[in-house]
Amino acid sequence: MRKPFTHDQTAPSKTEEYRKLYWKGYRFLNRERRLRYGRWYRSRPEYREYIRKYNAIHRDKIYERKNALRRMHAKRLKEEVFRHYSPSLICQNCGFADLRALSIDHVSGGGGSHRRAIGRERGGTLFYEWLKHNGYPIGYQVLCMNCQFIKRIESKEFSWCPRRSAEVLA
Ligand SMILES: [Zn+2]
Repeated sequence: MRKPFTHDQTAPSKTEEYRKLYWKGYRFLNRERRLRYGRWYRSRPEYREYIRKYNAIHRDKIYERKNALRRMHAKRLKEEVFRHYSPSLICQNCGFADLRALSIDHVSGGGGSHRRAIGRERGGTLFYEWLKHNGYPIGYQVLCMNCQFIKRIESKEFSWCPRRSAEVLA
């Protein structure tokens, strides 16, 4: 059988294409080994020291980059989750279409206590993550902030607050 590859890259049969394909195969077949090597490489004291210095010097840049990634992730996640409940990204009550002022509404109310129950009291991204990881449970809809607020008042969701509920009942 012919030798599949030699490091003699000057040989006429070893075209660029061939070499690319060969290394692609090599990377695929030796995935574990490469990961192991990477872990070892990064665990060396000199590399850790280098990284420590790099992080100290470029702290702002790294911080910025992480934040940008986080914002991008949050934006994508929001759109994905909202698209599930409202494919054309509009308020399902009035048709308002600016994603920035749309929110997920718990159809039967009690969204706040539910979010607290699942440990996502901050809402937003964490709550969207929960929805996604739970296979988009039914009982939620997309409403704009106006409709959300009007619904809250009409359904007296503020009944826990004596002042607010007095206002609503008045
Ligand atoms: Zn609306």
